[in-house]
Amino acid sequence: MRRAIISDIHANLVALEAVLSELERQEVDSIYCLGDVIGYGPQPRECLAKSRSFELNLLGNHEEAVLYEPIGFNARAKSAVDWTKDQLRVAELTQDEKREIWNFLGDMPARHVEGDVLYVHGSPRDPTREYVFVSDIRNPAKIAEIFEAQEQRTSFAGHTHTAGVFTEDCEFLHPSQIGNRYQVGERKVLINVGSVGQPRDGDPRGSYVIFDGEIVEFHRVKYDVEEAIRRFRETPLPEELALRLIEGR
Ligand code: ZN
Repeated sequence: MRRAIISDIHANLVALEAVLSELERQEVDSIYCLGDVIGYGPQPRECLAKSRSFELNLLGNHEEAVLYEPIGFNARAKSAVDWTKDQLRVAELTQDEKREIWNFLGDMPARHVEGDVLYVHGSPRDPTREYVFVSDIRNPAKIAEIFEAQEQRTSFAGHTHTAGVFTEDCEFLHPSQIGNRYQVGERKVLINVGSVGQPRDGDPRGSYVIFDGEIVEFHRVKYDVEEAIRRFRETPLPEELALRLIEGR
């Protein structure tokens, strides 16, 4: 098995296409997406259409926000939620197209378990909304609670847009510290796969991992950020959402 795990595409089709063509080259046999296909970015419909071919699509907090209510969103994120919602309802879509989109979103599960591996968007404790930040390693009580809620030895998550490995011993291993590889073993770990379309770890390249059941490889893909920014400018989305892509912050 050679599985790609991606997350947080955030309607950035330019980044998604770059990652998908890289995955073709990598000859993966399945793609799991941990949520937030939409939200923030300019091409939600196109990104949802591509996601439909993935073997797994989990519910992210941005899908949850368009389906139900935007809870815990700041004003800028909320305005992007409203714009995204409109894009999925516009008149130029046929009734069938709309039904397909909304059924696809509504059918997304919040968590997925396969053997000793858990897949979520946020955290094992709150699959769509809870953030596990790098700074949380200074909060051992929180990390302990997270791992208590994680029945499986390994979990994969997204949501913070920061790739790396959290261990039960309150460590965070940045991919560069571990040669972009981590072997899952005896101890419980939570692996963040980073973000395809809006990295926030200071590296503007799209992030993904490949997992073969034992080894997790961390990868980054350079994409045309200028082109992505041009596509933002064809929409009324806030300029800051586009500009943050330049530095990956
Ligand atoms: Zn996200």
